[in-house]
Amino acid sequence: MLSRLLGKNVLITGASSGIGEACAYQFAAAGANVILTARRKDRLAEVQQKIHAAWPSVQVHTAGLDVQSSHAVDQAISSIPEALSSIDILVNNAGLAMGVDHVSDVADSAIDAMVDTNVKGLLYVTRAVVRGMKARGSGHVIMMGSIAGMAGYQGGSVYCATKSAVHAISEALRAETIGVPIRVTDVRPGMVETEFSVVRFGGDRGRAGEVYRGIEPMTAGDVAESVVFAASRHPRCVVADVVLLASGQA
Ligand code: NDP
Repeated sequence: MLSRLLGKNVLITGASSGIGEACAYQFAAAGANVILTARRKDRLAEVQQKIHAAWPSVQVHTAGLDVQSSHAVDQAISSIPEALSSIDILVNNAGLAMGVDHVSDVADSAIDAMVDTNVKGLLYVTRAVVRGMKARGSGHVIMMGSIAGMAGYQGGSVYCATKSAVHAISEALRAETIGVPIRVTDVRPGMVETEFSVVRFGGDRGRAGEVYRGIEPMTAGDVAESVVFAASRHPRCVVADVVLLASGQA
């Protein structure tokens, strides 16, 4: 029932590549207006151009945003044009993994980057958007968690902790919105082929290939399909948790 998304306003963080970019196209294809944020404004402009070309009736607003700054988040949300300012769906997707160092070796910079983006940034955006949703009495918050939040792996202490936190935030938000028709979905993918797959290994494609050997990863579009599925259910129905594994992934 993709028609339920027609004319909805969808804010996507981390829309400049990967899963966020794929979500932007799939929401636009369903007739939703999209507000696209990320740090790389040139990449957002490319996504915007593609959407304008393919779905000319869809409204697109882009904003350069580093979610690590609560001030920047509040400013970006308040500068959304009036026509798009009532956000129906938030896709809290911005995130990163930095390195696979053991706890004994992990650098301050990696701890800070992952916690500041995946946890604090996600909280800043959620706080700013959920205020409006509560005032209007409706909305849907979709978190991009990970199966990394369900179990630890070697070198994953910080990333796993942040994605476990994403799940905890989803549960807390759902508890806080009992009686208010605000839906919360935690999407938890396994391996997905995006820039993330290489970035997390510091650009070392060989090392990335070793970890992913023998498994065909999902595409960003595969994950976006589940996001759009959750968002397009009847408002009485909450897709609370979506766990997606690449076929063959344990
Ligand atoms: P990408 O690296 O392609 O996308 C990450 C997005 O997050 C980019 O658009 C990036 O934009 C944005 N981003 C990163 N840091 C910030 C920041 N400080 N402020 C604003 N935006 C930021 O990877 P994916 O598409 O794979 O990742 C998307 C989400 O999916 C992440 O939360 C990731 O943890 C999660 N995930 C990924 C999996 C995978 O295997 N790929 C598996 C499970 C979950 P920019 O650099 O322009 O700011």
